[in-house]
Amino acid sequence: MRVPTLDDLDVAGRTVLVRSDLNVPLRDGVVEDDFRIRASLPTIRELRAEAERVVVCSHLGRPHGVDPELSMRPVGERLADLGGFGVVQAPGVVGAQVAATIAEAPPGAVVLLENTRFEPGETSNDPALAGALASLADRFVNDAFGTAHRSHASTVGVAERLPSAAGRLLQAELEAFSRLLEQPAQPYVVVMGGAKVSDKLGVIRSLLPKVDLMLIGGGMCFTLLEAGGYEVGNSLVEESKIEEVKELLEGPGGSKIVLPADIVVADRFAADAERAVVPGTAIPEGWMGLDIGPETVRRFGGVIRSAESVFWNGPMGVFEWEPFRAGTAGVAEAVAECDGYTVVGGGDSVAALRMLGRERDVSHLSTGGGAGLAMLEGRTLPAVAALERWSTS
Ligand code: ADP
Ligand code: MG
Repeated sequence: MRVPTLDDLDVAGRTVLVRSDLNVPLRDGVVEDDFRIRASLPTIRELRAEAERVVVCSHLGRPHGVDPELSMRPVGERLADLGGFGVVQAPGVVGAQVAATIAEAPPGAVVLLENTRFEPGETSNDPALAGALASLADRFVNDAFGTAHRSHASTVGVAERLPSAAGRLLQAELEAFSRLLEQPAQPYVVVMGGAKVSDKLGVIRSLLPKVDLMLIGGGMCFTLLEAGGYEVGNSLVEESKIEEVKELLEGPGGSKIVLPADIVVADRFAADAERAVVPGTAIPEGWMGLDIGPETVRRFGGVIRSAESVFWNGPMGVFEWEPFRAGTAGVAEAVAECDGYTVVGGGDSVAALRMLGRERDVSHLSTGGGAGLAMLEGRTLPAVAALERWSTS
């Protein structure tokens, strides 16, 4: 089934509710990184040009009930600055006062609802909340890829109640991941990193038959190294996953997994720890691996540069600390230099790429971590399934 897009939705003269992903980091009440706001603008702009009224909503952080520190207000201010249009902050998520704010908003202004997670019914997809959201508009557009793998009132519930379509950002995300899922040009190389192997074991298992090589770094590689029978010292290991990982390594796709040849180790978990480079197969007792080593960067880099399709998720080390950044920076550089189709997903990998100023040098920079992994695992995203009901083709 095809997901309906803005091309399929008749919005002229109507009020449209847009679910964007404006979940940005705040510091002292100011937006610290507006990547997701910028990414949401094309859909909002397109709808502003065609619809009678545009109402935008999003979640922000993880509030427990109403929390003034997680109000959408600073996000709305940045949205107005970047968009060059007026943004009216609604006093809540749903209800009569919110409906009045929408009805009274000046022409051309966008109304921003409060943080959807101020409502306890958001994450439980409560029918009453979904109904109240749907009553605010005539049409619904979901543009939030980052939450598409969750069944929430503002993503699934409202899409079941109003004629709905995917926004341009969600459309681009779905196209990028479908391309990797259905017809990746080969060689297809996946690079996995990040802290925990338990988060990504499912996707590694489902990707292995499809890829040519799976390069693994980051905190998760030590569980694989230990399962392979090597000494990992004090490195991060998830003992409960060892058996499962062993089966994966010894299974049919196991030979496609490439583990780091060398590791940057530290004598403690600190930015200013003592450092050394050691073989990946022999981490000395008392030391912990915090980055992939230079030889691994060289090998991974060579494989990545000559690939036709690349998916990268998760940093290669504790890149937040400068002494353990080279592995992630090296992989980011190689992905940026690859001429094939390159997709980078996951908050921290995207942050690393942007830190290097190379975000324009990849084919697709995803705004979602978990949702992209869920798609590559072959799972149906509930928010996308809810849109497909409205497909006419
Ligand atoms: P992403 O957000 O890209 O999906 P994750 O959230 O899974 O990535 O993992 C990112 C975190 O993993 C970072 O905070 C990084 O410091 C941490 N990390 C990477 N390598 C290691 C390591 N060797 N030991 C401990 N933590 C690590
Ligand atoms: Mg993360």
